[in-house]
Parts: sequence; structure tokens; C-alpha cells
Amino acid sequence: MTNLFQNSVSQLEKVAELLKLDKKTVKKLITPQRVLSKKITVTMDDGSRKKYDAYRVQFNNARGPFKGGIRFHPQTDLDEIKTLAFLMAIKCAVVDIPMGGAKGGVTINPKKLSIKELENLSRNWVKVFKDYLGPTKDVPAPDVYTTPQIMDWMMDEYSKLVGRHEPAVITGKSLKQGGSQGRDTATAQGAMYVLEEAVKKLKLDPKKAKVAVQGFGNAGYNIAELVYKAGYKIIGLSDSQGGISDLRNSGMDPKKVLKTKKAEGQIHSCYCIGTVCDCVNYKKITNQEILELPTDILIPAALENQITEKNVHKIKTKLILEIANGAIDPSVSEILKRKNIMVIPDILANAGGVTVSCFEWYQNRHKENWSKQKVFKKLKEKMMKSFNHLWLIKDNYKTDLRTAAYILAVGRIIEAMKSKGRI
Ligand code: GLU
Repeated sequence: MTNLFQNSVSQLEKVAELLKLDKKTVKKLITPQRVLSKKITVTMDDGSRKKYDAYRVQFNNARGPFKGGIRFHPQTDLDEIKTLAFLMAIKCAVVDIPMGGAKGGVTINPKKLSIKELENLSRNWVKVFKDYLGPTKDVPAPDVYTTPQIMDWMMDEYSKLVGRHEPAVITGKSLKQGGSQGRDTATAQGAMYVLEEAVKKLKLDPKKAKVAVQGFGNAGYNIAELVYKAGYKIIGLSDSQGGISDLRNSGMDPKKVLKTKKAEGQIHSCYCIGTVCDCVNYKKITNQEILELPTDILIPAALENQITEKNVHKIKTKLILEIANGAIDPSVSEILKRKNIMVIPDILANAGGVTVSCFEWYQNRHKENWSKQKVFKKLKEKMMKSFNHLWLIKDNYKTDLRTAAYILAVGRIIEAMKSKGRI
């Protein structure tokens, strides 16, 4: 897994050469300010106590408090969390929100825990890292397999520990606990705004464009819903167990697929509505096969490292909307460019989530309560402005959007570090 961090950092090093940055500055940019790794204990329902590895990596706070989600996942480790913390610092700078970058996690399968055990795990994560958290220090949020309910428990635990109600310590809370309107679908909504811009630039016809979405969690499901409603044809969908492709290319309704998933526990090879199942026109596919379907738009919205040296030659699409953090190994960027595949990189594509998190934090701190309309209007402005800014840089430097994003972000972080006397 060491490759993951090195791969992401190599992108920055490439840009550093382009911008002629000195070695000392580069080192500061790629070194986390604080790496926290602790054991946390969870009391299981049978009374036993189990220990798990828990992390918080605070990468850079030159532009504002550390910000970034917490993931509960059986395969997560410190290297992954460090990489994602680095990406958060870059992402917040790309969309120009006053936040730094961080990430947290626990190596655990939360799907195997009861509600009580999950609550205990969430509260204990806060207990362990409390001294490093706070509305002006470090503001966590949801990530893979963490939910508004988990954020509510964490906020409550922090408030108890510091002896005052402190909603701005964490974002992605439920509406009842100070969450923002629109935060639940913000990642997908933000991605949709930039997708629409890119589709115009590439002159694709949404009504004819074929789309495959890998991942059926918060981001994956919601983007599928949005593209379906906008008239795109969804020909592939998958969850962590695998997926289905539509052999007729006529387009699947994600809502109906969700109904099947709820009834059957997974996205099935059949497409069932109530008791009627259409098993003829859908093919069961793997999570790798979904990426190789002939499409116009491919949306990896599951986990990192999905498009790598191993399968990049099999990718048949025009545009990749990289919603999952690190879904594309940066070392294949050149190959994708040669194949004429445009990539909207993760650090822009999924920045809608942290942008609305920032709006939530602001509302909590100023005791405001914005309507969903206001949230999405501001989100749209941010996403469009960032997309168009990256497009200009891309043209100026004759490069791709990911490199353009790094050029913009690195410039902004350096400016903040200089003004703080850090470099
Ligand atoms: N986990 C999300 C991300 O990777 C959201 C982070 C946040 O809202 O702070 O961007």
C-alpha cells in the first residue's frame, strides 16, 4: 500500500517541477503535520472488549482548520489515511474553501457491528482524538461507511467531553443535530454540476450518452439518480458485491435497482420490480467488468485504485468522472490522455461533499440555517468557478485537468504557508 501515497505525491512533484519549486518547499507540502495512530477499544454486546487500529492524519492547516472524513473499513490502514488526508488538503484548495486537509479511520468492518457496538466505536474514536479536534482545529466528517448518525454520536461525545454544545466540531450531521440541508447528496450534486460543464465542452448529447457507475453508496447511488433524471442512459451499476449491465442499452432506473438490492441484499443479475423480474436483459458482471463496458461516461464511485496499469488498456469511454477518492492510479494519467479520455479528477469531482461540509460548519458557527436552494446555488457557483478555472489552466499549460488542479491548489497552499511564515 506504500505505493498509494507515493503515487499521489508524485503528481505534486511533477507540478513542483513545472512551477520550479525548491526542494524544501516540496518536502513541506508532502509531509503531514501530525500523524496520530491509536488503539481503540470497543465493548461488544457479549461483554467482551476488542481493540482496533484508529487513525487521524492532519496533513496541512495553512488555509484553515484541518478538514476531512473518517472511514470505517476493514482494509483501511495508515498509508491510505495519509494519502486521503493529503488529497483533502489539495481538494479544499482547489475549490477555495478556508480549510486544510485531514483524514481519519478505523480498520474495522462496521457491517458486522450491532448499532450499540457502532455507537461505542464512534464515541470512543472521539474520546481518543478529542484533544486534536475542535471547530477551529480539526473538523471531521463522514466518509466510506460512516453516516449522519455516526456524526451525531461523535458530536454529542465531543460536546460532553468539553462541557458545551459544539455542533461545528463535525459536519455531515443529521438535520436534527445541526446538519446542513443538502449535505447528504452534496458529493453527487457537486459532481453533476461539473459533469454538465464537461459534457458541454466535449459536445456529448446527454440523451444519447451511455453511463456506467461503479459503487452504490451515498455518492454512487445519488449520482446515478441525477444522471438518470437528466436523461443519460445508465447501462451498468454495481455495489461492493458486483453489478449488472443492461444488454439492451436502454437505461436502468437506479431507484428500481435499489428496490431490488433492498429486497435481495445485493444488486442482482435480475432487475425486479415488486414480484416481476426481468432476468433476460441484464447480465451479472464483476466490479472490474463494469469499468470495461463501452460507455461515454464512466463514473467510479466506490474505492481507490480501480483504474490502474492492469486495466487501463481495457477502458472504453470518453469521460471519467472520478468520484471515489484515488480511483485512478495517477501513473496511468498519460495513457488515458493518449487514449483521448478526459478525466475530471477526484479533487474536483467529489469536492461538493466537503464544500457543503464547509457551509454546514459556517452555519453552525454563525447560528444560521440555509435552505437547500441556497446551499445548492452556492455549491453550483463554487463547482462551476473551479471547473472553469481548471479548464483555463489546462489550456494554458497544455495539460490535463488533474495537473491543472494541482497547479491551482499548490499555488494557493504555498501562498498561505508563506503568509504564515512556514516557508
Ligand atoms: N469524506 C468526504 C471527502 O472525501 C467529505 C469530507 C468532509 O466533508 O470533510 O471529501
